[in-house]
Amino acid sequence: MSTFPARAVVDLDAIAGNVRHLATLAPASQVMAVVKADAYGHGLVPSALAAQAGGATWLGVAQLAEALTLRASGVTGRILTWIYSPGAPLESALAAGLDLSVGAPWALTEVVAAARASGRTARVHLKVDTGLARGGMFLEDWSEVLADALRAQADGVIEVVGVWSHLASAEDVTSPITQAQLDVFVEAIARAEAGGAHLEVRHLANSAATLVNPAMHFDLVRPGLAVFGLSPVPGRTPADLGLTPAMRLEAEIMLVKRAAAGQGVSYGHTYTTTEDTLLADVPLGYADGIPRHASGTGPFDVGGRRVRIAGRVCMDQVVLDLGPDATARAGDVAVLFGPGTDGEPTAQDWAEAAGTISYEIVTRLGSRVPRVHV
Ligand code: PLP
Repeated sequence: MSTFPARAVVDLDAIAGNVRHLATLAPASQVMAVVKADAYGHGLVPSALAAQAGGATWLGVAQLAEALTLRASGVTGRILTWIYSPGAPLESALAAGLDLSVGAPWALTEVVAAARASGRTARVHLKVDTGLARGGMFLEDWSEVLADALRAQADGVIEVVGVWSHLASAEDVTSPITQAQLDVFVEAIARAEAGGAHLEVRHLANSAATLVNPAMHFDLVRPGLAVFGLSPVPGRTPADLGLTPAMRLEAEIMLVKRAAAGQGVSYGHTYTTTEDTLLADVPLGYADGIPRHASGTGPFDVGGRRVRIAGRVCMDQVVLDLGPDATARAGDVAVLFGPGTDGEPTAQDWAEAAGTISYEIVTRLGSRVPRVHV
């Protein structure tokens, strides 16, 4: 039993179910569950295993360190990693049986060197920058690296198993940016195949493209947010999209006390009670990832009643004004967000309260908040 008076309860069946649902939307594609950033805050290893139980045949992580952690924890299956810097321990990556993204000329040089040194064939996914202008090479540079990669493949040092890219505006199906990215992607694939690559997977689609744009599915879809049941599509709820949010964040109220009308609350007294009322302290603050931008707006459910943060978010606590008739007591549970099915706020509500996106709400949840997997 954790002594920390708050927890993120993570529903692993929801993760598995979301993957199953995404797979039905892309029936001709494999699913790579993206579990970077501690599985979007949900806990890396249990979430990865749940995604695999739901049918994900691949896992994707940004940092090489995350991929090595998965392997060290006994997670099997294909894993792609795409963020590493010059001098990274690529021989360890190959020993761990990881697939490596190559998104820069130096990366190919280092992967080839690691493969030669270790005597292992490196499985490489060449990342083409189709227009995001982040990660990967623009098409002409990419084509030069492709030629070098295919030479190394002919030597048996590497295998070019994938061509991939990432979308800038995936949620906007009619966006000319998406169409232009698709055109570049198709051209890159054609160049790779004309050069003799036998591609196993071509992949472009994140959650939004998996959910709303089948033309982007190719051999493999790469959803992250949707695996955890959150919606990347503005104006569409998880339920609209057939998803179940996996995380419920809750805390035990540690103090309630009556305050008179006119009482300034929390740092700077940006909130003042308007009547004799009941205040509650909840032991989560910005050190736990509660956005300070949600001061005055962040929603809670306490005993079935919706209340908002009174005044500023502090480092370890927030104060709620429960109202004059409230009967809450220390030890009662305050829910920050969950699936919303019992009327509680959702991660999307918090995103709106803080002027951000639900990705940030879940990924910034602090490491001291226990994750309880059920
Ligand atoms: N692919 C790459 C390269 C990413 O960086 C991400 C996350 O940002 C994803 C896939 C998954 O994106 P999403 O969470 O929007 O599905």
